[in-house]
Amino acid sequence: MALQYNRRTCYCGEVGTERVGQTVLLAGWVAARRALGGLIFIDLRDRTGIVQLQFDSQTDPQAHEVASRVRSEYCIVVRGEVAPRPPGLVNPRLPTGAVEVRVREIEILSTSKTPVFELTDEIETAEETRLRYRYLDLRRRPMREALIMRHRIAKAIRDYLDAQGFIEIETPFLTKSTPEGARDFLVPSRIQPGSFYALPQSPQLFKQLLMIGGFDKYMQIVRCFRDEDLRADRQPEFTQLDLEMSFVQPEDVMAVVEGCLQHVLRTVLGLEVPAPFPRMSYRQAMAEYGTDRPDTRYDLRIREVSAIAGRTEFAVFREVLSAGGVVRAIRVPGGASMTRRETDTLTEELRGIGARGLPLVKVVVGQDGTLEFQGGIAKFFNPQTTAEMIAATAAQSGDMLFFAADSEPNVCKFLSWLRGVVAQRRGLIPAGGWDFLWVVDFPLFEYHPEDGRFYSVHHPFTAPLDEDLPLLSSDPGRCRAKAYDIVLNGIELGGGSMRIHRSEMQERVFEILQLSPQERQLKFGFLLEALQYGPPPHGGIALGLDRLVMLLSGRESIRDVIPFPKTARAICPLTDAPSPVLPEQLSELGLKLIEPRQS
Ligand code: ASP
Repeated sequence: MALQYNRRTCYCGEVGTERVGQTVLLAGWVAARRALGGLIFIDLRDRTGIVQLQFDSQTDPQAHEVASRVRSEYCIVVRGEVAPRPPGLVNPRLPTGAVEVRVREIEILSTSKTPVFELTDEIETAEETRLRYRYLDLRRRPMREALIMRHRIAKAIRDYLDAQGFIEIETPFLTKSTPEGARDFLVPSRIQPGSFYALPQSPQLFKQLLMIGGFDKYMQIVRCFRDEDLRADRQPEFTQLDLEMSFVQPEDVMAVVEGCLQHVLRTVLGLEVPAPFPRMSYRQAMAEYGTDRPDTRYDLRIREVSAIAGRTEFAVFREVLSAGGVVRAIRVPGGASMTRRETDTLTEELRGIGARGLPLVKVVVGQDGTLEFQGGIAKFFNPQTTAEMIAATAAQSGDMLFFAADSEPNVCKFLSWLRGVVAQRRGLIPAGGWDFLWVVDFPLFEYHPEDGRFYSVHHPFTAPLDEDLPLLSSDPGRCRAKAYDIVLNGIELGGGSMRIHRSEMQERVFEILQLSPQERQLKFGFLLEALQYGPPPHGGIALGLDRLVMLLSGRESIRDVIPFPKTARAICPLTDAPSPVLPEQLSELGLKLIEPRQS
C-alpha cells in the first residue's frame, strides 16, 4: 500500500529523543546517502532540518533495495521507528543527532537530476547559477533560514502595528508616476492605446490620500519599483514597510518606528535595544562623519581644521582654502603604527575616488617631551601650528592624523570613506552592535548649479520646519525640512517626513522647484485637488524591509534575503526576464520597437 504522504507525523527537524520508540512518517529530500555493508544511511531534509534514516538489508530487505536506488535530491516518503543512535555515533552538531529512524517502508515520490551545485551551507557557486536554479538554492539551510526570518520579521511588524491601531491597506501597482527621484517602470495600456501606467516607486501619494480619506494610521508591507542602475544593495523591485499617520509630529512617527523595531529585535533575535534612539542633525552628521548615514559604532570623528591648516606652509592647504574649500582631519588612535604600505594603499584607493592624495602626520613625543609631528607633511608645521592642531584634534602620542583638503562635499566623501575603511581594517568596529540613529533636520532643497534649479531632497510633499518658513522666500537653500532618516550601523534603513497639508504651501514649494502649473497639474493634479478637501496634518516613513532582514540575519547582500531577486544586470536568470515579446503583443498595444537612445 502506498505511503500516505499527506499524513506526515512531523517534520524531519522535529525528530528528537522524546520520540524514541515512536513510528514516524516523514517526507523530504535526500541530502546525502552512504552505503556501509548491509546498511544504507540517508540524510532526509525538509524545511526544518535533517534527520538520519537507516535501512537494514537484514531486517527490511525491500526498503533497503529501494534505498539503494535513491540518489541525491530525490523526493521520498518513509515510515519507520525512532531509535537512539549507538553512543559513539551521536552527532552533537545536529538537533536530531542523537536519534535515527529505522525505516520499514520507503517510497520514491519523484527522482531528481544531479543538481549542478552541492546544496551545502557554504558554497562557492557563482550567484548567477544559484539564481538560475533558485528552487535548489532555496533547499540550502542559509537560504531557508533567511526566508523564515523574513517571514517572522514581517509578522512581528504587523503584530506590533496592529496592536498600535494601524490598518494595512493595499495601494495600486498600475498607477501614475510617483516622484521618488528614480525612473519609472512603464506598463503600456492596451485599452487606452498610447497611454501608460507607471509601477509605483512608493505608495507616497496614495498613503497621503488615505490620510485625507480618514485612515489615520496606515501601514503596508509593499513592493516598490524603481528603474535605477543597480548597486549591491538595490533591486528594481524591493519591499518597504510603509507607514503614514495623521495628527502627528515627527516624534510620534519616530516613536512608532522605535517601538516596532524594538519589538522586531526582541521577538526575532531576543535582543533588547534601548529607545529612544539618538538623534543627530544632518549638519552634525555631515560635519563629523562626512555622510548623512553615520556609523556611530566607532568614533574616528572628523574635525574641522581649516583655520589652522591655513597657517601652515603646506601649499595644497592654502590653495584649497583660497579656492573656498575646507581642510578636515581624522585622528586614528594608535595609528602611528600603520605601515607605509597601509598608508600607500589608502592613498591609492582615495585617488580612485577622486582625491589628490592623503596628507598625514604621525604624532610622537619629541626630545623635549612635547608632542610633535613626524613624517608625511610634518615639515610644513611649526611649533605653533603643531600645538594648535594637536589641541584641535585631541591627538596623543602614537596617533596618526589624516587630512583631506578639497571642496566641502569632496572632503566629506573622502573622509567618510576613510573612516569606514580604517575602522574596518584596524578592527575598531565592535561586533554585535545595533546602533540605531535618527538623522533629522535635512535641508528641504538641494541646489543643482548645472541647471540652476532647486530639487527636493526628499520629495516635493515634505513640509519645511516651522522656524525656517521665512527662508522659503529669502533663502530656500537654507530651509530645513521636517524630515528624518533612520540609520542602523551606518546603513540607511529608511526615511520619511511630515507632509505639506495646505495647498498654498504646496504651491509655494512647486514654485521654488520651478514646476510649471501645467506640470503640477499633469503630475500631481489629483493630490492638489484632494488637498482642498480638509486634509489632516500628516506624516510618515518608509523602511526598507530587504535591508532590515539582511542586517538582522547577518547577510551581506539583499539578494540573499529575497527569494527570487534580479542580478546586478537587472535580469532574472531563472525565468529569463526581461525578454522580447511577440510582434502580435506589440501591435495589440500599438507599440513599435526602435533602437533605444544610448544614455
Ligand atoms: N515615500 C518615501 C520613500 O519611499 C517615504 C516616505 O516619505 O514616507 O522613500
